[in-house]
Amino acid sequence: MEAAAGMISVDEARERILAFFDRLPVERRPLLDALGQVLAGDTVAPFDIPPLDNTAMDGYAVRAGDTAGASPGSPVELRVVANLAAGYLHETPIGPGEAIRIMTGAPMPPGADAVVPFEETDEPLREANAAPSRGALVRVLKEAEVHANIRFRAEDVRCDQVVIPAGRVLRPSEAGVLASIGLNEVAVYRRPVVAILSTGDEITEPGQPLLPGRIYDANAYSVAAMVRKFGGIPRLLGISRDTVEEMTRKIHEGLGADMLVTSAGVSRGDFDVVKDVLAREGAIDFWTVRMKPGKPLAFGAFTAPDGRRVGHLGLPGNPVSSMVSFELFGRPAIFRMLGRTDWERPMVRAITRDRVANTDGRRFFARCIVTQGEDGRWYADLTGPQGSGILTSMSAANGLTVIREDLAAANPGDEIDVMMLDWDHAP
Ligand code: AMP
Ligand code: MG
Repeated sequence: MEAAAGMISVDEARERILAFFDRLPVERRPLLDALGQVLAGDTVAPFDIPPLDNTAMDGYAVRAGDTAGASPGSPVELRVVANLAAGYLHETPIGPGEAIRIMTGAPMPPGADAVVPFEETDEPLREANAAPSRGALVRVLKEAEVHANIRFRAEDVRCDQVVIPAGRVLRPSEAGVLASIGLNEVAVYRRPVVAILSTGDEITEPGQPLLPGRIYDANAYSVAAMVRKFGGIPRLLGISRDTVEEMTRKIHEGLGADMLVTSAGVSRGDFDVVKDVLAREGAIDFWTVRMKPGKPLAFGAFTAPDGRRVGHLGLPGNPVSSMVSFELFGRPAIFRMLGRTDWERPMVRAITRDRVANTDGRRFFARCIVTQGEDGRWYADLTGPQGSGILTSMSAANGLTVIREDLAAANPGDEIDVMMLDWDHAP
C-alpha cells in the first residue's frame, strides 16, 4: 500500500482505474431490461424483412399495364375482385382488368405489380368512402408505374444478414430491430452492481429529522442516480460514522458488489479513519488528482470472501467534487464493466462569456450552461459561484468546462472546450 502518492493527472488516474476493471459475464435479459447494455454476439436475421412484397399505401393492387393512359378526363375502369387487409394472403392471381382493394402492409397478390393509392382513384369521390362491393368498378385517374408503392421483400434485411453486430449498445432502435426478427430476449454483458457508502458523523439519511450541525446525505443519492443512469445497479449501504469498526463492517456488507464507492474521508481532515480501514483491509492508493473540483481521491481494491477483487473508488466528500469525480472516474469504470467503449463525453468548442480563472495548475471543470447563439455558435456561461459545496451549480449546468492545467485563465470571447453532460437538458 502506497499512501499519499504524488499528484497525478486526470488522464493517468482514469487509465489506472480503467486498467483495473473488466467486462462482466454475459447474461440473457428480456429486451426492455437490457436498454443501455451491450450485445454480446452478432444478431443474424432468420428471415427476410419484409418477408413478402407488400403495399406501402392503402389503395388498389393492379397490373400497371391495365392503367395505361388513365387520367381524370379518361379514367380506366377496373373490376374490384377482393378487399385485402394486412395480415392476410390473397393467393389467386389477379387477371386483366381486375383490381384488389388493399391496405398498407398487406402482401401483394400474385400478378399485381403496382398499387394505385385511393387518392388516384374515384374512391374519395364516393359517398362516405364506402368500399366498393366485390365486382363493382373502380375508376383509376392516373397511370400507375410498374412497382409503384410496393415495399419489396428483403428491402430492409436479408435472411442470414447480421442486423446488429456484437458490441452495439441496445437503444430503442436496436430493441425495435431485435423485436422485428422475433426476439424478446438478448444476450448482453451483465450490469455492474455498485455499492455506495457515505461516511461522516455529520451525515443524516434524508427523511430523518436533522439535528443541529448535521447535513443530509446528498452524495449517496447523486452517485446512485448516476450509477443507474450510466447503466449500473446502485446498492445503498447507508451511512457510516467515522469509526474504524463501523466503516469496516459497512464496507464488508458491500463486497458482494462489482464496485464499491465511498464518499468523504479522503481529504486531510478526517483522512485517518478511512485510511486505517483501507490500509488494514484493502490495497488502496490515496491520490491527489490534478483537477478542480476534486483533488483527493482514493482508489484500490478489497478482497471479497469469495476471493474476487472488488474495486473501490473513494470519492471526496464535497457534493460537487463527488459528482464530478464519479463522472470522470466512475462512469468509465461502469462502462468498461458493461462492455462499452464510448465513455468519452461529447466535447464542444464554445465561446465563454465569463472569465474562468485557473490559478493553481489543475484541470478546471467549471459548471456551465452551453447554448447556441443566434449566430449559430455555441456559448458557455458559468452557473455562478463554483465552490465545490454548491451542488445547485451541478443542477443548473449542462456541461463542464475543461480548462487545461497550464492555462491560467480563459477570458470572455475565448473559445474553450466543454464536456457535455446533458445535451437534452434545457437550461
Ligand atoms: P470530508 O471529505 O469528510 O472532509 O468532507 C468534505 C465536505 O463534504 C464536508 O463539508 C462534508 O460535510 C461534506 N460531505 C461529506 N459527505 C457528504 C455527503 N454524503 N453529502 C453531502 N455532503 C457531504
Ligand atoms: Mg468527513
